[in-house]
Amino acid sequence: MTENKSENLNKLRKEGYRITSQREKLLDLFYNLPEGEHLSAEELHKLLMEKKVKISLATLYRSLKFLATNGFIRELDFGEYHKHYELNTPQKPHHHLVCNACGLTLEFEDKNLYEHAVKISREQNNFEMRDYQFKIFGICPECKKV
Ligand SMILES: [Zn+2]
Ligand SMILES: [Zn+2]
Repeated sequence: MTENKSENLNKLRKEGYRITSQREKLLDLFYNLPEGEHLSAEELHKLLMEKKVKISLATLYRSLKFLATNGFIRELDFGEYHKHYELNTPQKPHHHLVCNACGLTLEFEDKNLYEHAVKISREQNNFEMRDYQFKIFGICPECKKV
């Protein structure tokens, strides 16, 4: 649903959601991040401060929740104390390999996983799939050398 940002934001406004300029700026930030970035709330907060967007960490957490619930961004749990966030791109689903030693995150795509997820959700459970996440935890090649 992230194909057209303003269209989606307008739809939410019509449904009565309040899209503050903070939320819109936060979303802009995600659109402008290089692909493959998975930032924590603290890192996003730092970037927003650098862009002179005034937002408290508590408000940022609420805004992230809001954007995730409405399908704009993905909330990722890499088994750390904090979550990571990235733009939701359902048209290009990807998954993650996470190094337990250095925290490196690699992305990969797999068509079979997608078809399997569709089968499990739609066909077997009559479930509308909004996101699906597959994670592999382990040790990256660099850390294996040490
Ligand atoms: Zn990712
Ligand atoms: Zn590593």
